[in-house]
Amino acid sequence: MPSPDTPHAADFRPSPNHGERLRPISSLILHYTGMPTAAAALALLTSAESQVSSHYFVDEDGTILQLVPEARRAWHAGRSFWADEEDMNSASIGIEIVHPGHDDPRPFPDRQIEAVAALGRDICARCAIVPQRVLAHSDIAIGRKVDPGEFFPWKTLAELGVGHYVAPAPIAGSAALEPGASGEPVRELQRALADYGYRSDVSGAYDAASAGAVAAFQRHFRPGLIDGRADSSTIATLRALAAGIGA
Ligand SMILES: [Zn+2]
Repeated sequence: MPSPDTPHAADFRPSPNHGERLRPISSLILHYTGMPTAAAALALLTSAESQVSSHYFVDEDGTILQLVPEARRAWHAGRSFWADEEDMNSASIGIEIVHPGHDDPRPFPDRQIEAVAALGRDICARCAIVPQRVLAHSDIAIGRKVDPGEFFPWKTLAELGVGHYVAPAPIAGSAALEPGASGEPVRELQRALADYGYRSDVSGAYDAASAGAVAAFQRHFRPGLIDGRADSSTIATLRALAAGIGA
């Protein structure tokens, strides 16, 4: 039995689903389990047939289990992209947070988020992961994944020392860039999203992929309205985030 990589893990519950890392660790990816019970999620993440896993599993009461050694590549991200990296499983540590998902978007319990924060602080310190590399699965799998959800408490997590956060700019009901738009403002938006790390082609044409990237951004950073339209609040929040990197 391997011993946990962190003092925060109560136990090691080994999953057979892992392989060799092909990249250095740069990112921490947060997920919700999206299943009715913790037991069902843990069974899935530790069964060979499922072909899925994560490094850590955080129950609603704050209990942390390690499933895969950090040195190994766990299978939580699937097809993914961030900042020109396509194999995010190789480049990340994955945490599955017990929550039923969008079918039941209830608040994450405080003690669970405190546990995620303690674990995240420890991982980010040991692996030199910068705050803007603490990401949602939805950030790196645009159009495919929506977890851990717009109801995930990113602000609280940042206050507890994990992740990059700025208060979202107020939603003003202003005009917006939206599908069908084109030109330099669209190009600027696409470049800003790409510079931050999102998969975003700088084409100058606001297509379905652009709307998907904007929606992914909103789900994490401007959760009050997720509509794939880049209104002034969305653009201001993105600018503020970009300006805050390394600050
Ligand atoms: Zn996920």
